Amino acid sequence: LLLPVGAALAIGMSWLAVWLSRRQLSELAQLRRAVQARAFVVEYQPLIDLASRCCVGAEALVRWRRSDGSLTRPDLFIPLAEEHGLIQAITDQVMAAVVAELGELLRSDPNVHIAINLGADDIRSGRFLPVLDRLLQDSGIAPQQVWLEATERGFVDVSSASSVIEQARRRGHKVAIDDFGTGFSSLQYLQGLPLDALKIDKSFVDVLGRETVTSSVVPHIISMAKTLGLAIIAEGVETQAQLDYLRAQGVDGGQGWLFAKAMPAPQFIAYLRRG
Ligand code: C2E
Ligand code: MG
Ligand code: MG
Ligand code: MG
Repeated sequence: LLLPVGAALAIGMSWLAVWLSRRQLSELAQLRRAVQARAFVVEYQPLIDLASRCCVGAEALVRWRRSDGSLTRPDLFIPLAEEHGLIQAITDQVMAAVVAELGELLRSDPNVHIAINLGADDIRSGRFLPVLDRLLQDSGIAPQQVWLEATERGFVDVSSASSVIEQARRRGHKVAIDDFGTGFSSLQYLQGLPLDALKIDKSFVDVLGRETVTSSVVPHIISMAKTLGLAIIAEGVETQAQLDYLRAQGVDGGQGWLFAKAMPAPQFIAYLRRG
């Protein structure tokens, strides 16, 4: 009896594998088509200076506009794009969207900055830099107004990452490590990278005020960042209690639903003008 059951299970599993890979394949095929069709849109989440409570800029967050008009969150396609070498093409579209949609705003207010997320291939190759140079020159935006961020995965190869970060900083961009704490980074590793800022991952902000191992790490991340001379930005701030804690700890900036969710460019421009 065991043998046929085992065989049936094995056949079932292999069908499941085929079905899953077909589904993935069609998702990949659709993503490739989206890259060609430039089917990405960008939303902007306000970045708040915690001391003054003023909005000082925004993070550009990409969304995939599907053929039915719905928007797909980046968590659901960025990993696939990274895996299949599509991230640099997506970065190009995000940079172009930022300049097209917010160029006027950035030219009119030199104190506003926009943070752009980069993928591992971007940081490895540095190919986005000349593309960005050209976009900024053509539109008269100062490089100081464009900040760049990548997760720890992007900085795995410290020596090539350092050289690309240096090139970006020489132009005037600020560079941040994103989602800090979720990967493998150590103090020693951070010391080797010429960064400007560290973004504390939302998972650490979520547990503030609760007595957990995770929340006990936060003061250490903050003091480490300060020791290294990095600006600190907290992401995913949702409550006043979290904000009070972060401000008391001297965290410089914050993003989160307590302030605002990501929004299309016209709404962000209106948000900023309201002060
Ligand atoms: P991230 O860079 O850490 O961006 C923050 C994410 O947290 C965003 O999700 C944002 O909408 C969400 N968030 C911000 N505040 C709150 C809050 O208070 N509560 C909750 N629950 N969520 C909050 P989103 O837009 O889905 O982006 C997810 C990730 O996708 C980003 O994480 C980033 O790693 C990646 N990503 C987004 N845009 C791009 C892009 O243009 N290029 C690349 N390479 N990656 C991108
Ligand atoms: Mg980010
Ligand atoms: Mg982040
Ligand atoms: Mg995050």
